[in-house]
Amino acid sequence: IRKKPWRLEDYTSGIQRGDRVTLAKAITLIESTRREHQALAQQIIEACLPMSGQSVRIGITGTPGVGKSTFIEAFGLHVLKEGRKLAVLAVDPTSQVTQGSILGDKTRMEQLAHQENAFIRPSPAGESLGGVARKTREAIILCEAAGYDTILIETVGVGQSETAVHSMTDFFLLLLLPGAGDELQGIKRGIVEMADLAVVNKADGERLPLAKQAKQEYRNAMHLFPPKESEWVARVEICSATTGMGIPEVWKDIQAYQEQTRANGYFEHNRRAQARYWLHETINRELRQLFFNHETVRSQLEEVERQVMNGQQSSFHAAEALLQAFREQK
Ligand code: GDP
Repeated sequence: IRKKPWRLEDYTSGIQRGDRVTLAKAITLIESTRREHQALAQQIIEACLPMSGQSVRIGITGTPGVGKSTFIEAFGLHVLKEGRKLAVLAVDPTSQVTQGSILGDKTRMEQLAHQENAFIRPSPAGESLGGVARKTREAIILCEAAGYDTILIETVGVGQSETAVHSMTDFFLLLLLPGAGDELQGIKRGIVEMADLAVVNKADGERLPLAKQAKQEYRNAMHLFPPKESEWVARVEICSATTGMGIPEVWKDIQAYQEQTRANGYFEHNRRAQARYWLHETINRELRQLFFNHETVRSQLEEVERQVMNGQQSSFHAAEALLQAFREQK
């Protein structure tokens, strides 16, 4: 027998019950490129919006191999023990170079994945950063509506995706390796500057002294950064994702951050600013798509590019002409 297609109420009631299968199905709709899926996905998001927001959203980054999955597993199990419900999402745009994701789909966080109060979802595939970021932000809303009060958003520490994750989270955590400067770890200064907490992982065995030294160095370096708008002073910790040492302290720091920024109003202020940012981002993105999919633009762009490169037209004049054609022909 052919099952009836799911309607809006089927999704929203399932999500409200905290049903993981429904939640996963709804996120699949968000990720779909089909028009009717998108329309339904937007309705689900709208319906979930009033039930969302009651969470702490934590961004986490670090270069491949630093121990992100191992850390998330240990950290995740810890927060579950504290009575939280945890959703783990990822922002991992399809790499131009490898044609695939960096976080990969190897079996990760296996223990965590089996926990009743954990929901793990890999990054939407085959998307540019803008697309992944928007879809992840929408998935956050659904996870929160399903009762997840702790949202972890993982990304790779190699490029622009950190900025996107930073702009959708309350707290930003940077994982580091013991005993290497940030240039060596391939981490840009801007990313270190965004961190509310830097954690030197793998502080176990013979790497413990190195980790302690790195902690001191990062503390000194981060002290020189300008104060944050949140008034929170970034902290540095050490931990071992494999032994569990230092993991409870990370959670305590996140709670201290929440306490401080909820009290001084920054937490709410930041969420509102982020909502406005994503409004603009979405408009920019959609407009750009409309423009570049426009018939005249599509048919003329290549020739206009050639003329601009050959100096037959100025960039500004050419852009104005294309924009004019776009404006005139709906
Ligand atoms: P990711 O690429 O950042 O997700 O890193 P993984 O979590 O896959 O870890 C990379 C490697 O480092 C794996 O072999 C882990 O077992 C190891 N690893 C992760 N955390 C620790 C730690 O705290 N101590 C030690 N000794 N090894 C770790």
